[in-house]
Amino acid sequence: MANATVLPLPRHPVGGLLAQPLEGLGRMFYMVEPELTTYKTPEEVPFFFRQAWPYFLAFIVLENLVLWLEHKPLSRLNDSLTSISHGIFQECGRLVFRGAEHWMYIYIYENFRLAELPWDSAITWYLALVGVDFCYYWVHRASHEVHILWAQHQVHHSSEDYNLAVGLRQSLLQGWCGFVFYLPMALIVPPAHFLTHQQFNLLYQFWIHTETVQTLGPLEWVFNTPKHHRVHHGSNLYCLDKNYGGFLIIWDRLFGTFAEERPKEETVYGLVFNQPSFNPFYLQIFYNKNVINKVRAMNGWKNKVSAVVKGPSWLPGRPWTGAEEDKIDVSRKARTCTLGTRPYYSFFVRVLGTLTSTATPPWGRSETPWTRGGTNNVGFQNGQDGN
Ligand SMILES: [Zn+2]
Ligand SMILES: [Zn+2]
Repeated sequence: MANATVLPLPRHPVGGLLAQPLEGLGRMFYMVEPELTTYKTPEEVPFFFRQAWPYFLAFIVLENLVLWLEHKPLSRLNDSLTSISHGIFQECGRLVFRGAEHWMYIYIYENFRLAELPWDSAITWYLALVGVDFCYYWVHRASHEVHILWAQHQVHHSSEDYNLAVGLRQSLLQGWCGFVFYLPMALIVPPAHFLTHQQFNLLYQFWIHTETVQTLGPLEWVFNTPKHHRVHHGSNLYCLDKNYGGFLIIWDRLFGTFAEERPKEETVYGLVFNQPSFNPFYLQIFYNKNVINKVRAMNGWKNKVSAVVKGPSWLPGRPWTGAEEDKIDVSRKARTCTLGTRPYYSFFVRVLGTLTSTATPPWGRSETPWTRGGTNNVGFQNGQDGN
C-alpha cells in the first residue's frame, strides 16, 4: 500500500502550538482545508469524531456559561448526562461493529465503481462533501418516515430539552440503519473521501443543537443552523417531518420539507409521547416494542408490512406519513421526565468512558488531537502521488 505524501504541519497563520487545536475547532464547523483533509486510503483517515470529545465538553460548558450570563435556565444535569451517555453508547458500539457497516461501501467501490476520480483532486473532495450531505438528507428523512428506522432514530429526539448535549444523543444502531443510503456514492466517490466527510458532516451537526444562537442572517439560506434544527426537534404540528438537512439546508428547500421557525410559537421539544426515564439503555430500545405492537394490531400481511416500513403515524387507508387530523397537537406542557440524578450515572459514564478510550478506530489508529502530526495531508495536484 502506498503511503500518502508527507508534507510539513498545517500552515495555519497562528502556527505553533495553537495550530492543531484551532484545526480541531474548525472541524466542528466544517471549516477545513481540502488539501489538509484529503487521504488516499481509508486507513489514513483520522478518527476525527473521537478527537472532538474535548471540544464537545468545552462547548457544553461554554453554552451554560452563556445561558448563565443571559439569566436563562441552565441545562439540566440529569438530562445532559443521559445525552452524553448515549454518545458514549455510540462510541462503545464501535468496539463491536469495528466499522463493518462501511465494508459494503468499500466492496462496491473496489469491484463496481463507474469512474476513477483522482483521489488528490479538490473536485473529488467537494463532490464527496455534497454527496455525503445529499445522502444524509435521505437517511435522515427515512429515519423519520420509516417506522422501524424511527424506532432507532427517536433516541436523538427523546430529550425534552434542546442544548448541545442533545447533539451527542445518538442511536447505537443508527449507522446500520442508514449505511444503505450512502452506497450509490460508492460507484464514484473513493472510500477515504466518504469516511472523511461523513465524520465532518456529523461533527457539524453538534453545534446546531443550541438555543443560544438565534439567527445567522443570509447563512440561513444555505446552511443548516440552530434556527432550522430547532424546528426539526420540535413536536409542534408545524415542526413534524421538517428540516432533515445535515450541513446544508438546501435539500429541504428543494424537496419541500423546509419549515421556518415561528418565534412567537413556543417550540415543544422531544417526542410526542415522551418517556418518563433517563435510563439510556431503556431509551435506546423501548420504541421497538411499539413497532411490534403495531404489527400485531394490524389485520392482513399488507398492513403488517406497512406498519414496519411506513411512517410512525401511518394508519390503514391513510397517507405514508399519516393524516394531519390524526396527529396530536402538542402545546406547552410540563416536562414528562423530571427524575433526579442518580449515582449510577457517574459510575456509568466513568466505566463506559474507560471502555471508549481503549477502542481503536475501525479503519485506522487511535489518536488524540494533540498527538497527530498531520502527515497524511496532501497538496492538491502537486505532482506528488505518495508512492
Ligand atoms: Zn431527526
Ligand atoms: Zn438533532
